[in-house]
Amino acid sequence: MVYQYKDILAELRSEGYKITPHRRTIIHILEQTENLMTPHEIFERASSLSPNISLVTIYRTLDMLEKAGFICRLNMDSGHTAYLLRRPRSHHHHLICTSCGLVVNIGDCGLEEMEKSIAENTRFTVSGHTLEMTGICPECRRNNQKSGGELKYS
Ligand SMILES: [Zn+2]
Ligand SMILES: [Zn+2]
Ligand SMILES: [Zn+2]
Repeated sequence: MVYQYKDILAELRSEGYKITPHRRTIIHILEQTENLMTPHEIFERASSLSPNISLVTIYRTLDMLEKAGFICRLNMDSGHTAYLLRRPRSHHHHLICTSCGLVVNIGDCGLEEMEKSIAENTRFTVSGHTLEMTGICPECRRNNQKSGGELKYS
């Protein structure tokens, strides 16, 4: 299950959040893309739809959507933060292509057992974990090999 525009609006409303036109625009943008977007990229796209939107509104809305569990936040190698709509809704991790930014969701994380033993050993109440993996996707690997081959003959 993936969140869609109308689900998000309905759930936000039922939780008492105000749906301003700016928030609507931001949710719409996130729903329209499969790719990661930085707050600045969201701001650029939002500005073309609602010229008076501010970067502060973007940050606040992203914060609100993340806390409400509708979007995923990823930490990029560059030190930037990027967001995408939560796909799937259930617990998952991300594998990110460092070359093109493709994100693959990993649903089967297998860390629950580790959490249990860590909780026992440390006497912590473990509330969760985050894990991001990075790599090169098959497409980029193919392209790299291709351009490597061309270089050889030039
Ligand atoms: Zn995600
Ligand atoms: Zn790639
Ligand atoms: Zn996990």
